[in-house]
This record gives sequence, C-alpha cells and structure tokens, in this order.
Amino acid sequence: MKLVLIGIQGSGKSTQGNLLSKQLKLPYLSTGHIFREIAKEKTQLGRYIKETVNSGLLVPDEKTIEIVNSYLTRPEYKKGYILDGFPRTLEQIKEFKNNVDKIIYLDISQKEAIWRLFHRDDNTRSDETLPALKKRITLFYKFTEPVIGYYRKEGKLIDIDGTMKIEEVNEEILKGLGKQLIKNQVTNWKRKQKTIIAIVGLPGSGKTDAAAFLKSKNLTVISFGKTVIDHINQNNLPHSEQVHKKVREELRVKYGKEAIAVLNANKIKEALINNQIIIIEGMRSWEEYLYLKKQFPEVNLVIVCIYSEKLLRYKRISKRNNRSEHYGEERDMGPTIAYADHVIKNNYSKEEFYDKLELTYRTIYFS
Ligand code: AMP
Repeated sequence: MKLVLIGIQGSGKSTQGNLLSKQLKLPYLSTGHIFREIAKEKTQLGRYIKETVNSGLLVPDEKTIEIVNSYLTRPEYKKGYILDGFPRTLEQIKEFKNNVDKIIYLDISQKEAIWRLFHRDDNTRSDETLPALKKRITLFYKFTEPVIGYYRKEGKLIDIDGTMKIEEVNEEILKGLGKQLIKNQVTNWKRKQKTIIAIVGLPGSGKTDAAAFLKSKNLTVISFGKTVIDHINQNNLPHSEQVHKKVREELRVKYGKEAIAVLNANKIKEALINNQIIIIEGMRSWEEYLYLKKQFPEVNLVIVCIYSEKLLRYKRISKRNNRSEHYGEERDMGPTIAYADHVIKNNYSKEEFYDKLELTYRTIYFS
C-alpha cells in the first residue's frame, strides 16, 4: 500500500506517519527529513538545501523529484510506503514515477498551526521559525492545494480533521483507508519469512554499541561473544586475550569451528518463536554462518558488517578495561565480513552511526 500524507506544518503528519508505519508495517519516509539530512552535509548541495529549507521555500521540483524517485527505488519501499511531504506541487505529481493508493489530508487552520509551533516542547528544528512557517503556509495554499484537488478528483483523497486528538485522527485515518486494504497489508506481512541479523566486524568497530542500540529498540539480541565470557566467568578465569583464545579453542575442539553457534542454537530457536527478527552479535567464523543456515533453513540470514577505520578501532580498543591489546588481525572473521549483505561505516558520531543502523534495520525489515 502506498500512502501520502498532506497537510500544513504542524498538522501532525509525522506523528500520524510514524503511528501508521507501526500499525501497517510500512516504512515511513518524509521529504522534509531527507532534506534536513542533506542540509547537514558540508557540500554545495547541502548548503543550498539548508538555505532553502530554513527560509521555508520549496526545494525546486526537479531536485525534489530526482531525490524522491531515487529513494523509492530502494528495496525497502518496494511493497509500499507512507510518504510525508511529497508530492507538494502538480509538477511533482507529473514526474512522480510511483503510484499512490490513498492521500491523507490532515486539515488544520493556519491559526492552529502557529499555536502548535509555539507550544511544541520538542522544538529542535532550525527551520521552525515563524517567518518560515508563514512562507510554508502561503506556498501550501498556492502549490499544494491544487495537489489536493487533483487527488480528490481521482477519488483517492481522505479528508481528516487534524485538530482532533492524536488517537482520534489515527482512528479516522484507519477507517478512511478501509478494512480490506489494511487487512491485505497485515496478512501479507504475516506470511513473511523470519530473519536473523548477524552483526560482524573487527574488534573496536562498534558491534557492542550496535547491539545495545538495537536492544534499546526492544529487539532480542543474542550475544555470541558472551558465550565465551560466561564460560570464563563460570570457571573464574581472567579475561586476557590468551584465556579467551584458549576457551574458544577448547570449545572448537569439542564442537567444531561452529562451536559458538552450536552452543546458542537452542536460544536462537526459542527467540525465533516470538520474534520476526532477532539479532546475533559477534558471529565470527564462516562455519558458524553455514551452521546457522543449515539449522534454520526457513530463516533469512542477513549479515551486517560494522566497519571502522583502523586507527579509530585501535584507539577504542586501547581504552578498554581488558583485552586492550587485542586488535583482531589474527581472527578468522574474514569471510563473514567479506560476505556481508550490508556494511555500516562507524567512523563519525554515535548519532550518525545509530541513524545508519536504524536505516539498515528498516531496509531489512521491510524488504
Ligand atoms: P516539511 O518537514 O515537510 O515541512 O519540509 C521541510 C522543508 O523541506 C520544506 O519547507 C521544503 O523546503 C522542503 N521540502 C520538503 N518536501 C518538499 C517537496 N515535496 N518539494 C519541495 N520542497 C520540499
């Protein structure tokens, strides 16, 4: 199902878009958000977009269309999406390569929009100033009202009174979309394959951070690294690299090179009963990968590699409490890294890293 949310700033598009995304299992995409991200880039395009967005003007159609069309070719959007902020002009409708099923128009007055702007307690956007808002509203009536008219004629418009409470607006939208449409969407989803996301990467690349972040999103994380740590703790051994290596080797003699996967197989099986997606942190050997493939043939096994530059990794490792001399060159994780389905670079800020992680997760979740 392909949906579009239309409304002036403050009408609740992103609130409703995020709610619908969870309810309908569809990815939510906002052109405003895309442009604000581009605006952070220190490039000519970044500076230009920043100026345009902050002044409340529209990004030229040609650029907007090019960006939106290229975003929507990503696999996560193949089965549908919730698009917020596009199309905003008749020209954009004309050049838009994708069809839409329904347009949801969240209607609020200008007065209400201004009131909401000044009563938002999470106001962190640099483009949310009164002059920019006023400009945006003027442009909305000039360019976007004809878009609403266009879709109304096509019979695709759902008119919603945006001044109601969040839950009421949501209810009205769901009603407007129709039971059948939603039912199809959700049953399609239910038939989907289960997924294991295996996070791999050299020491210091940020696997633990990545796992903690995904855990904070209520995902089930099974840590392969912890298997060795637990074993060491149980036997009251010190956490030196030699001990880690020795324990790993002992387990490998007993269970083969896939030892850690073998020891976690039951945990994984159980976790898959109640979860559509689970995360494995710290998969290493290729044998572990092959073992998981064989044990869980119905499951989609996706490798996500976290990559960080060497010096950064070394710096992070040297700050650790234990095993701070261990850089990973001798580890046998080459193939799992080389075969990764996704690579995330973790060379910059945490915020940027988490954004990328979330994007990668969504790509896997929706494709
Ligand atoms: P929004 O968050 O939807 O209010 O968008 C913020 C800003 O991004 C707008 O004021 C425009 O500068 C730009 N923008 C977002 N979507 C579009 C679009 N479809 N066409 C042109 N500019 C857009």
